[in-house]
Amino acid sequence: MNRTTSEQLYQEALQHIVGGVNSPSRSFKAVGGGAPVFMKRAGGSRFWDEDGNEYIDYLAAYGPIITGHAHPHITAAITEAAQNGILYGTPTQLEIKLAKMLKEAIPSMDKVRFVNSGTEAVMTTIRVARAYTKRSKIVKFAGCYHGHSDLVLVAAGSGPSTLGIPDSAGVPGSIAQEVITVPFNDLSGLREALEKWGGDVAAVMVEPIVGNFGMVMPEPGFLEGLCKLAHDNGSLVIYDEVITAFRFHYGSTQTYAGLDNHEDITPDLTALGKIIGGGLPIGAYGGRKHVMEQVAPLGPAYQAGTMAGNPASISAGIACLEVLQGQGVYEEMERLAIRLTEGLQESADRHGIPLTINRIRGAFSTHFCAHPITNYEEAQDTDGEMFASFFRHMLNRGINLAPSKYEAWFLTTAHTDADIDATLEAAEASFQAMAAE
Ligand code: PMP
Repeated sequence: MNRTTSEQLYQEALQHIVGGVNSPSRSFKAVGGGAPVFMKRAGGSRFWDEDGNEYIDYLAAYGPIITGHAHPHITAAITEAAQNGILYGTPTQLEIKLAKMLKEAIPSMDKVRFVNSGTEAVMTTIRVARAYTKRSKIVKFAGCYHGHSDLVLVAAGSGPSTLGIPDSAGVPGSIAQEVITVPFNDLSGLREALEKWGGDVAAVMVEPIVGNFGMVMPEPGFLEGLCKLAHDNGSLVIYDEVITAFRFHYGSTQTYAGLDNHEDITPDLTALGKIIGGGLPIGAYGGRKHVMEQVAPLGPAYQAGTMAGNPASISAGIACLEVLQGQGVYEEMERLAIRLTEGLQESADRHGIPLTINRIRGAFSTHFCAHPITNYEEAQDTDGEMFASFFRHMLNRGINLAPSKYEAWFLTTAHTDADIDATLEAAEASFQAMAAE
């Protein structure tokens, strides 16, 4: 496959944009380097690059594009919003409509506030939890990603009873001292952390179904135990549902039929993003009324935004959720994901390639290893070189995946059986080539 134009554009981008990309996850650093593909156009399940090559897309822009690219209902909503004036700096009726839709689907959110990204949403939930509890520390789980604000770019110290270390240059050690990182699916680590730091812990933050070291379900009892330990300690529970909300069903983890005891796994605050903006920049956070009333102008916790709740993002979000309300859309994404994952597994097995697939409805992750993936340590202990090889073989056969062994594949409402057939054919050829390497 000829990608000369992408290579030239990458060289040009490198001169003007740091690292040639506007988000590090778009670089091919984790898959051996070189020029990422410069896409020119997208429609439905497909991408076309600057050299005219066509790809089937499973990146879905890291999640938001759940209805496929350029969905006509969303495009029409954005066009109408643009024609009516793009930004007002005043409240609009549209914001109420999307807020009500979110509240109906996620009952723990009595009150909502819109922001512009998942990062902002998460960052603000932490501020609100700190304001409400008048405590400063947070506990989070290893391998969960919560955006790029200082507090959540902190890695584990040497155990649950030690404070964190900065994961990024520019995050002061003093901030890392406010964060404790414990393993996912391990209540004893959380218990130990709360025993040591309990009176200082404002919140326990978690991706309740993980999307950032593959797709990983909480083990039975984990979320119940997490909520109970946090609440008994006087800490709030924050769910980062930036990936998971509206991903597996029309709702969030808190109401997902794949988990029991919904009242025992209800958080105090929820952070949202991605799907709820239909592909335009958005974030939102919400939670119990008396917690949310900490936020300005009602309360002392300040958060603001020039672009927050802008009519284009809100309109795209409403349109996206309307598509997702359609009959059977999640069932169809799941049906295709089952076909795809079963086919991938058979094909890998046939060629002696160790492959573990974690699938949750229409989303799944592929791990080159023979063990199950239930936490970050296990996800790290997989063959990155094999993933890189698979990624490149698939790309050269017209299948666009995320260039990282930790990212998920996302089915959209635009994928078809023909896409699955073509993807399985590409995978069979890729595994065959890998077996011969
Ligand atoms: N939380 C989670 C769970 C995410 O996956 C992400 C982004 N991948 C974020 C927060 C940050 O969202 P954004 O990139 O919109 O800032």
